[in-house]
Amino acid sequence: MHLLNADLHSHSRVSDGTSSPAALAERAHANGVELWSLTDHDEIAGQREAREAALDLHLDYLSGTEISVSFAGETVHILGFGFDPDDAALGAGLAAVRSGRVERARRMGASLAAAGIAGAFEGALRHAGNPAMISRTHFARFLIESGRCSDNHEVFRHFLKPGKPGYAEHRWAGLGEAVRWIRGAGGIAVIAHPARYQFAPTLEYALFSEFVGHGGAGVEVVTGAHSAAEQGRYAEVALEFGLLASRGSDFHDAAESRIDLGSLPDLPGRLTPVWQALEARIQRAAAASR
Ligand code: AMP
Ligand code: MN
Ligand code: MN
Ligand code: MN
Repeated sequence: MHLLNADLHSHSRVSDGTSSPAALAERAHANGVELWSLTDHDEIAGQREAREAALDLHLDYLSGTEISVSFAGETVHILGFGFDPDDAALGAGLAAVRSGRVERARRMGASLAAAGIAGAFEGALRHAGNPAMISRTHFARFLIESGRCSDNHEVFRHFLKPGKPGYAEHRWAGLGEAVRWIRGAGGIAVIAHPARYQFAPTLEYALFSEFVGHGGAGVEVVTGAHSAAEQGRYAEVALEFGLLASRGSDFHDAAESRIDLGSLPDLPGRLTPVWQALEARIQRAAAASR
């Protein structure tokens, strides 16, 4: 049986990727992706360009975003798929989440300056395609460009995380809020790359239980950040909590990202793919012109 090459996680210059939405659509298509979603952090301004470019290429498309959430002192990412991009409450919610980013970035710059690294805010801003969405990724690019680190892995070992220079506390959306915005706009909410979080087992259990309690429906099982063992572990978690399973590269940039668009392992066969529940929400090029 042919398993659909779905890639439901990627970033454009609208957040912290380096390509335009249309260039990403072309890359996805060239790599054999059959169902794609652009999931910029906290922003859906790239959705129209992504959808139009995908449909021109006869690449099926699902609307997407990745919402930053604060949960038990950690940042958790919640993916939303298949929502109406014109929904007013979702738009207002995402605008509220974005609003603190520039002020946070100034505090990150001040923290790096205190550690002897001057000009980081301005340096990061030069890498941001969308200044309102300035992120740790843009600071990482500045730290690499200025020769302080050789790659992202090194950056996130020495900088930009709790206890290290360049980290600034920030309050993102609540878990229930993010799930409500996505569901209210007709979409499905999915916990992104769960192995990335540093939760003790009881807190991880609380995250999944509360997420399900709010109406969250899926978990990303196969993703660029997961090892084979982690895929196996979250496949079990999906079954335990009755969650749909998602698959996405989390592609940001050809030189930075470990996994390219469309080149992930398949979802384990015993899981139900999230796109099965989104049939009616998938945007397809007119069947006649295929
Ligand atoms: P922010 O939303 O500003 O906190 O930035 C988070 C982004 O930083 C993520 O979406 C990733 O693109 C990047 N990031 C965070 N942690 C790591 C890591 N350990 N390695 C590589 N990139 C990371
Ligand atoms: Mn990112
Ligand atoms: Mn993420
Ligand atoms: Mn992502």
